[in-house]
Amino acid sequence: MPSRPAGGIDVTEAARPRGAAITVRDVVKAFDARAALHGVSLDVARGELLALLGPSGSGKTTLLRVIAGLESHDGGNVAFDGQSTDALSVQERGVGFVFQHYALFRHMTIFDNVAYGLRVRPRRSRPTGDEIRRRVLSLLDLVQLGGLETRYPAQLSGGQRQRVALARALAIEPRVLLLDEPFGALDARVRKDLRRWLREIHVKTGQTTIFVTHDQDEAMELADRVAILNAGRIEQVGRPAEIYAAPKTGFIASFVGDPTALDVTVEACRVRLGIHDAGTAPEGFPEGSARLFVRPSDVTLLPLAGMPDAGSDARTKPEAVLPGRVVDLIWGSRGMRAIVAVDGVSQPLEVEAPKDAPVALGETVLLGLSRVTLFR
Ligand code: ATP
Repeated sequence: MPSRPAGGIDVTEAARPRGAAITVRDVVKAFDARAALHGVSLDVARGELLALLGPSGSGKTTLLRVIAGLESHDGGNVAFDGQSTDALSVQERGVGFVFQHYALFRHMTIFDNVAYGLRVRPRRSRPTGDEIRRRVLSLLDLVQLGGLETRYPAQLSGGQRQRVALARALAIEPRVLLLDEPFGALDARVRKDLRRWLREIHVKTGQTTIFVTHDQDEAMELADRVAILNAGRIEQVGRPAEIYAAPKTGFIASFVGDPTALDVTVEACRVRLGIHDAGTAPEGFPEGSARLFVRPSDVTLLPLAGMPDAGSDARTKPEAVLPGRVVDLIWGSRGMRAIVAVDGVSQPLEVEAPKDAPVALGETVLLGLSRVTLFR
């Protein structure tokens, strides 16, 4: 899979895809008779960065550990480059790991931490001292920690320690790099910086990588493709834009894009939301109760004059117009959002407040709904 350009990286130097292609087929895993994975199948292309995204307890870590060989499975199989891994130990699989909690050796310098995996190799496959030194220093440069090799882990910030953990995982030239919530313990700003930085490293190295996270922004920003797990099953695998634009199940629609779920009824191809018409149902959608998922990006505040006239551009004409009242205003990292109670509907909707036309608490407004995402 071709790497996509990331900020500040010269993509002409992007490495050839590296590592193994991974095939997971019908993997079943139970703990004490409770299924954690129900027949999971997944393909990861060589050189791809795939994010495993899902809520807590959905089976992300279990799947990662089965791929690594750290956990046995009860059925199905895992293959690297078409070769079953059943008979391979963790070491033989050639897996590099980074976990949420920096598992660095506290009594070793940064240099020794990164060199560790190479030094413990059997003599016949161990690089020479000079080669180890060259590789460790070049990896420390790659993770932008050049010059810090004589420090100890306690002398680094949390973000720097996770970079060392990544350099250590890469040092053994793994066939696959497995990252389990590697930035989970860090604050929001550092997380954001590190995810951009990891994307850049991925573009440079072309390393086959599986990244576990429950943070959809992290998954969408980092990954070539995202696999979404729910209760031990993969519900959708696709590029971030595909998943965002066309969620395949009600769960995915409820999970991605921070939507509000509203109970509606479908009658004669129209979506009824309480007393309101909320647009056209997708073709063939069965009549009866359904759920409408509305993301903040699906609604806009319209001028009180209401629905654009019949002559207005169909691309900008909303699917439906809903009258409501501003019941709260909240500030977030993306600016101000208005919480709007739609007349006769119990769940309020969230909408980005336009910067040039501020709204006030208690104001009567009209909401334009641009998209109908409907599931049974
Ligand atoms: P989180 O994001 O909270 O880490 P996850 O998606 O990684 O969650 P898993 O850790 O894979 O989920 O857990 C999947 C299910 O398997 C959960 O119900 C969990 O309780 C169960 N489970 C995981 N490991 C064990 C274990 N060693 N013994 C018993 N049950 C386990």
